Amino acid sequence: MVDYRRRKELAKELSAAGYKAEMLDSWQPKVDLFYHEDKWNYAGDSIVNAKGSKLKNQPGHPEHVMNQARRGVLTYPPSDTCVCKFCNIESNENKLPRDTSGKFISNKTK
Ligand SMILES: [Zn+2]
Repeated sequence: MVDYRRRKELAKELSAAGYKAEMLDSWQPKVDLFYHEDKWNYAGDSIVNAKGSKLKNQPGHPEHVMNQARRGVLTYPPSDTCVCKFCNIESNENKLPRDTSGKFISNKTK
């Protein structure tokens, strides 16, 4: 909870930085989000949003950011060192043994 004194402090801090105190109630922070996996269309024949592409100007509300993160859209761009679930699934798939045609080879059949 933000009490009266805290609100006054925030308003003072904001005005010192050049913002209006009204922004405390009305202004919603915006963030840029990044896809961490390729998003395919419903038919599954083309990629609508490629991994790494940017979703600009999304609401920065924590609940919205959390819901997007569950769908593989995070606040930072994907990288080789990314530890998110979506990047990990992709890198683990590449580690699995494949034959020359690209099919997965099961360890159990050996
Ligand atoms: Zn990632």
